[in-house]
Amino acid sequence: MVRSHPGRPRRVAVISLHTSPLAQPGTGDAGGMNVYVVETARRMAQRGVEVEIFTRATSSDLPPVAELADGVLVRHVIAGPYGGLGKEDLPSQLCAFTAGVLRDEARHEPGWYDAVHSHYWLSGQVGWLLRDRWGVPLVHTAHTLAKVKNASLADGDRPEPLSRVVGEEQVVAEADRLVTSTQAEADDLVTAYGADPDRVRTIAPGVDLRTFTPAPDRDAARAALGIRPEDTAMAFVGRIQPLKAPDVLLRAAATMLARRPELRERLVVLVVGGPSGTGLAEPESLVALARELGIDDVVRFLPPRRGDELAQVYRAADVVAVPSYSESFGLVALEAQACGTPVVAAAVGGLPTAVAHGRSGLLVDGHDPEHWADALERVGLDRAGRQRFSAGAVEHAAMFSWDRTADALLATYAEASRAKDRDRTRGMAV
Ligand code: UDP
Repeated sequence: MVRSHPGRPRRVAVISLHTSPLAQPGTGDAGGMNVYVVETARRMAQRGVEVEIFTRATSSDLPPVAELADGVLVRHVIAGPYGGLGKEDLPSQLCAFTAGVLRDEARHEPGWYDAVHSHYWLSGQVGWLLRDRWGVPLVHTAHTLAKVKNASLADGDRPEPLSRVVGEEQVVAEADRLVTSTQAEADDLVTAYGADPDRVRTIAPGVDLRTFTPAPDRDAARAALGIRPEDTAMAFVGRIQPLKAPDVLLRAAATMLARRPELRERLVVLVVGGPSGTGLAEPESLVALARELGIDDVVRFLPPRRGDELAQVYRAADVVAVPSYSESFGLVALEAQACGTPVVAAAVGGLPTAVAHGRSGLLVDGHDPEHWADALERVGLDRAGRQRFSAGAVEHAAMFSWDRTADALLATYAEASRAKDRDRTRGMAV
């Protein structure tokens, strides 16, 4: 069956194989990609496009179809046992998952979907086949790239296997359009994966400026977390894994306390998020590290939380640290800034786009605790400086919007469809 829709798509199949848009981000395999899929799907639906998100069923309690929002369905595809499979096991379930999606589609009239958008390489492998079968464009977002990740591993982190590298290379070669969040990621795709630059589109992700707003009453946000007005609060938010390097914030806090013993009375370090993967930075190892560094009295671990509650954490903090070794964008940095909290981030991947160095926060080269302590002190300890950075943070975050992301994605689906039609006329496309 061959068809395509030259104008705006009416229905889009989104593939998010390894993690569900219904999952709580900030723990396990759920993070920025889940937020991206949900936020863009909602906005596409608000523009009259029906979105169906296919994800692997991980529990027998899940209904085959769930409504995420008006116009957005989540389809749970049975592929392998519900439990017991980690992300690294999922390449064995690609065939079963694809078969499930094809069976779902066969219930509709022919030509139901106008585009396939796959997220992460596992979904890209599925999308590749769907694209060929349905004759619609495949738009792919990698979110992370194995070669980039392997080039800057944290201590104790396992390199991504060759099978993923090969799988990604295939998807890069096959996709009609490759969407990246930043120009840096686009350059990585071209130089490390040989992507055709004409097929790469850089579309910035957004931030929900209704949920992540500056605090009307910052002291109330702090009081709710037991932080006093005179305290200095520094936060890490995200999945607790070596790549995200929450340990760097702990080491920097220990350095600051060694430099300024009087700070111990009023320093609070918040670590918000759940375990993800294995390695040095698992929560238990972080608890042990805090003890070893002699700062367990200032560090507080909080479980992952949703939207409004997370916004309260950002508002309560004087500064948010994003010390990742590799980060394709870093939504946490944008969300914190939208709440008026400056960010100190590692100068890697998308973070130099997410943070305006010197205006909305600071970027740090490398992970030396001394350098991190310098930057955190500059942004978090000096009240006047903090106010200036805070205003810059709100201004910088306001440049990003999920509405614009969704509009740009819809435009990409449409232009990929038109290109496919042209190729088909010339006898070049499936
Ligand atoms: N997040 C959340 N609750 C938490 C911690 C994190 O909802 O307790 C969300 C956060 O709002 C952000 C996402 O998880 O949107 C993390 O995205 P980011 O791009 O920073 O990192 P990733 O997880 O994709 O590596």
